[in-house]
Amino acid sequence: MTDSCLFCRIVRKEIPATVVYEDEHSLAFRDIDPKAPTHVLIIPKKHVPSLNEADDPETIGRLLLVARSIAKDEGITADGYRTVLNTGANAGQTVFHIHVHLLGGRRLGWPPG
Ligand code: AMP
Ligand code: ZN
Repeated sequence: MTDSCLFCRIVRKEIPATVVYEDEHSLAFRDIDPKAPTHVLIIPKKHVPSLNEADDPETIGRLLLVARSIAKDEGITADGYRTVLNTGANAGQTVFHIHVHLLGGRRLGWPPG
């Protein structure tokens, strides 16, 4: 539901966020509980609950291209970074508005927990 969806509310500026990028289709803001020196969430402005419901290749592709661009702005391109898209309970998805995590600025462990 877009009325109560946390990230839709951030898109509508009803809830504050530290926005690092915005255009017609996309919004990116800093994660409220960062897991790395750079931890940015990239979302489509349109409400899509998760990858399971995503049907538009442009929407999904744009998330990664915006993430790449923000990585450059954050100065983490050369050292490397991770883009993560959690889908559903086993992956730990907690907000059901699709988002890509951009994580960088430190060495990241693999495999993830
Ligand atoms: P996920 O677990 O993949 O669904 O990720 C949801 C992310 O949203 C978590 O990393 C949270 O820390 C983050 N988050 C939750 N509420 C907010 C908020 N108000 N502003 C920014 N990030 C948030
Ligand atoms: Zn939403």
